[in-house]
Amino acid sequence: MMNRATIQNDDGTEEDVLYFRDNHGYLTDKETALKYIEKLRRFYEYQDVEKWIEDSNREQKLENFPIDFNDIYLNKQFKEKVYYYKPFRANLKRDWSFKCDWCGTKVSSKTDKGYFLINSHTRIDHELDGYRACSENCVKLLWKEKFNEYMKNKF
Ligand SMILES: [Zn+2]
Repeated sequence: MMNRATIQNDDGTEEDVLYFRDNHGYLTDKETALKYIEKLRRFYEYQDVEKWIEDSNREQKLENFPIDFNDIYLNKQFKEKVYYYKPFRANLKRDWSFKCDWCGTKVSSKTDKGYFLINSHTRIDHELDGYRACSENCVKLLWKEKFNEYMKNKF
């Protein structure tokens, strides 16, 4: 584990530095620390290191991704679907309507009981927030398209 410290140079200027601390909280002795530094240097000077870092971080990003890749409608973080059904309130003062973001069908509180929304905390980015659909099928297709678009741009 790396920690930060500030040291004072001979000319009085201050400098931010790093030191090692082991898993039990003990500071690493000088000899061991210099060996680590040499090994770090060897790693970061390795010819393929940039590709290695890039590949590894891409894999990690997928692993940390909140969506279950076996079921793209499932958010593994919250263990729930990426969309949900929202009934219109019964006591609406005014009728309210919108067009389905997938098929364009008009959904109205006058004629419909409710609609489907992409779950706001399952959004994978702000660009996927706030979409509404007329049916479960439409919300799934909408999500799938946005999800694929997102994956193409981000990975
Ligand atoms: Zn629709």
